[in-house]
Amino acid sequence: MRFGPYGGRYAPEILMEPLRDLADAYDAFRGDQQAQEELGSLLRRYAGRATPLYRCRNLGTETGSIICLKREDLLHGGAHKINNTLGQALLAKKSGRRRLIAETGAGQHGVATAMAGAVLGLEVEVFMGVVDMERQAPNVSRMELLGATVTPVRTGSKTLSDAVDEALRNWAATADDSHYLIGSCVGPDPFPRMVRDLQSVIGTELRAQSIAEEGRLPDAAVACVGGGSNAIGTFVPLLGDPVRLIGAEAGGRGLKPGDHGASLTCGSPGVLHGAYSSLLQDEEGRITPTHSISAGLDYPGVGPEHALLRDIGRAEYLPVTDAEAVAAFRLLSRKEGIIPALESAHAVAAALRLAEEMPEGSLITVTLSGRGDKDLQTITGGGA
Ligand SMILES: *Cc1c(COP(=O)(O)O)cnc(C)c1O
Repeated sequence: MRFGPYGGRYAPEILMEPLRDLADAYDAFRGDQQAQEELGSLLRRYAGRATPLYRCRNLGTETGSIICLKREDLLHGGAHKINNTLGQALLAKKSGRRRLIAETGAGQHGVATAMAGAVLGLEVEVFMGVVDMERQAPNVSRMELLGATVTPVRTGSKTLSDAVDEALRNWAATADDSHYLIGSCVGPDPFPRMVRDLQSVIGTELRAQSIAEEGRLPDAAVACVGGGSNAIGTFVPLLGDPVRLIGAEAGGRGLKPGDHGASLTCGSPGVLHGAYSSLLQDEEGRITPTHSISAGLDYPGVGPEHALLRDIGRAEYLPVTDAEAVAAFRLLSRKEGIIPALESAHAVAAALRLAEEMPEGSLITVTLSGRGDKDLQTITGGGA
């Protein structure tokens, strides 16, 4: 399945059968009412859904616009990632798998996978670059406490991309009893659509809450874009509505190659990790290094559906610099008593920009993808 020219299944032959099996298992899972009810119950009673749509009392009021926050930061684990990991872990269990494999960079996805594995009684192995293991030692401890095995990856740059390669290699050898639980709407089909569907609970709730509590749809919905899962989950249920959809990308230190992670604003088409999408690459197709103050947005690719939404003009993507994100992080903390994840702070910054530009009385929603406790060191300790 493709999104216009994007997406697809660019994988070595050895992974084609596991991917086909997974696509079939996912179709069955979607149609299995009992499984869907079980997922709904886990999301409500374990993860803490529905999350509130909070209308800011102070943020942006001087602009005459109204800013509402979709509070994914209040979920178990402190971010939207649990929506995806619970869904895929349940799918794995229903399709007879007993083990989950995951890759992780900053460790957030590894922790969310370890939680889902623990609650559903599945073994978990998380692949993580040794450089990241050092930088993110507390998340390594969390994963281990939750019962997961963290396997160090020592190849290449010893970071996220190498961990993905290692996880895929492991999956090729173990697909009969293992599910590869990918962390965003990236990778070969069916991953992008599966992760999108699992994260669409964000936009579905947001849409209903906006109508019920604000009496109307938003004029604009903003979300940050790393791999793009919280953004696509926000956007898709609003695609048929007259709502501007805005993705905030990592503008880093500026838009020179190597200084940012703005793969939709600055990228060109190519294949990475199994899908055709918009990538940060040089003229020879080599992936260029990326930078963002937030680990979750520091990725040279993006989910293929975003590349299509950009091309057809249905969604807009704005780069937000590190400095703007830090300013928004501080401002939201001060004005509303909510410390956002640095990733989410990019969306807050973009919303503040829109609030200035849009007509008075505009209603802008921001998907607050996670909480900022993990980022205090970066903000106050200079550990970026
Ligand atoms: C992982 C993460 C992101 C980036 O992932 P997407 O797939 O782009 O949503 C954004 N915000 C938070 C809090 C995260 O943990």
